[in-house]
Amino acid sequence: MRTELMQESICWDLSANVTADYAYANKEFSYFCPHSVCLQEVRPKRIVNAHFFAPELHVAGCPNEPENAEGDGTALKPSKKASIVGAPSVPTELGPAKSWRAKRSKPTKSELFALANALKGSAPSCAGTLKDVVDAWLRMPSEQKAEKPLLINDENFSYESGFYCLSSFGETPVEELPCTSKVIYGMARVKNDETCYWITSVKAFHCADNKVNLIINVPKNGSLTANYLNNLFETDESTKSFTLFYFGDVPKLSASGKSYGISKDISDDYRRFVLAPA
Ligand SMILES: [Zn+2]
Repeated sequence: MRTELMQESICWDLSANVTADYAYANKEFSYFCPHSVCLQEVRPKRIVNAHFFAPELHVAGCPNEPENAEGDGTALKPSKKASIVGAPSVPTELGPAKSWRAKRSKPTKSELFALANALKGSAPSCAGTLKDVVDAWLRMPSEQKAEKPLLINDENFSYESGFYCLSSFGETPVEELPCTSKVIYGMARVKNDETCYWITSVKAFHCADNKVNLIINVPKNGSLTANYLNNLFETDESTKSFTLFYFGDVPKLSASGKSYGISKDISDDYRRFVLAPA
């Protein structure tokens, strides 16, 4: 019996376990209940949170049957509890959920049975924004990071190898920062000025004879990025420490030569920065 929304299913087209968010972004695929006693076709749907429902109902006794189902699998009205969402899933991929063109014909029961057995226990595929990926990284105990897969630009990493700490960068020119292939992170100070925010990396990079920090200047102009920082600065403190995460273009030296700039626009969900209180 299920007391939370159904959030995982088998995707026949990808031969993989997937989350409801993934399926909701790829509705053209065929999805099935993963329990070999059931294997009913399910479809993604979103009211508040994405989840799966079975138009033909789950087979009686399937662990995905809603809690108040009758013994024969009929009269299914989900109880209130059934709208509870489980813990957020850990993205296995940074980037928008991919739409695949290839469509496969519907599987037979025995093909599905074989796939369900092969996929038993494997983590669901789930694409996430940079913020989703960073949140999962922050929640994850260190010893699990090497085991959790993370696909970035079609390259296989783990939550350990896909993240790169700025402090290990040494004296190398900033152009070699792996921020187009991995999520880079490091300590940053954020100053709350009258008209703008200044985000400055603690790590400084060699540039000619100088040491130059990554600096993002965000004007307080009501933009998405300004509002994002407003929310992080609910208290009156003028300076705060954060961990800065970034994935995107290589930092560019400013005209004055005194700072390296990275994108200050966070409207892109994937190539942007994220701050987490240190
Ligand atoms: Zn089922």
